[in-house]
Amino acid sequence: MTDGPVTDLYDLRVVVERIEGRSVCGMHVGDHIDLTESNRLSIPEGKHFCLYALAACLPLLPAKQRPLPPGDWLETDSHVACPDPDERLIMRIERTGRRTIPTEELT
Ligand SMILES: [Zn+2]
Repeated sequence: MTDGPVTDLYDLRVVVERIEGRSVCGMHVGDHIDLTESNRLSIPEGKHFCLYALAACLPLLPAKQRPLPPGDWLETDSHVACPDPDERLIMRIERTGRRTIPTEELT
């Protein structure tokens, strides 16, 4: 631990919650990616994740990593759709843990 300023961040998981159309990119309900230590993205071995689904989530992730004021819509609404209209794939962003990171290590 350092004595410098620290930032509280959540680790996140993006999970495929439901697929209402046909899965163009071969993902299944329950497929997920994890975002830990602010910037480390991991995909379970042997799995893949749709690039476009990922791109749809990306803008929300930095906000979701931070504790938000109560009432902020992102604090409650955590669903993102893959942009492919045939797919209607809905992902859920979950917080999986909270960690304190020295601010200087943040990118
Ligand atoms: Zn997709």
